Amino acid sequence: MRWRPWEIAYLEAHAGDGAEAVASHLGRTVNSVQIQASRIGVSLRRVWECPRCGQKVYTPLSGVSGWCMRCHLAESRDTAAEANRRIREKIAAEEREIAAIKRERQRYYSDTTRKRQKLKKLRKSRES
Ligand SMILES: [Zn+2]
Repeated sequence: MRWRPWEIAYLEAHAGDGAEAVASHLGRTVNSVQIQASRIGVSLRRVWECPRCGQKVYTPLSGVSGWCMRCHLAESRDTAAEANRRIREKIAAEEREIAAIKRERQRYYSDTTRKRQKLKKLRKSRES
């Protein structure tokens, strides 16, 4: 069966979807698509376009993010960095709280010591 112009146009536009996808869309055999592609000099190498960076890549997009590996990794790095920032903040807040409690406790200790000395002095002055 001869290839019609619109089929060739479709093949040119969708070659990156791979031979099987094009064959299935056009209702042709994979072999027929491969022969036609080689005749018109079109590569059937699978290519994906990342919706985030717009780059064409030759490895499947991430099943999790739907992005190319670079975008996916960059995103998961940023998520990890954010989690790290949050945990550091929690630790710092905890440390500030403990330091404040220690300062307060020290004030009580010092004040109690001063009051004991004062009481001792007052009792001494009553004796004399
Ligand atoms: Zn990308």
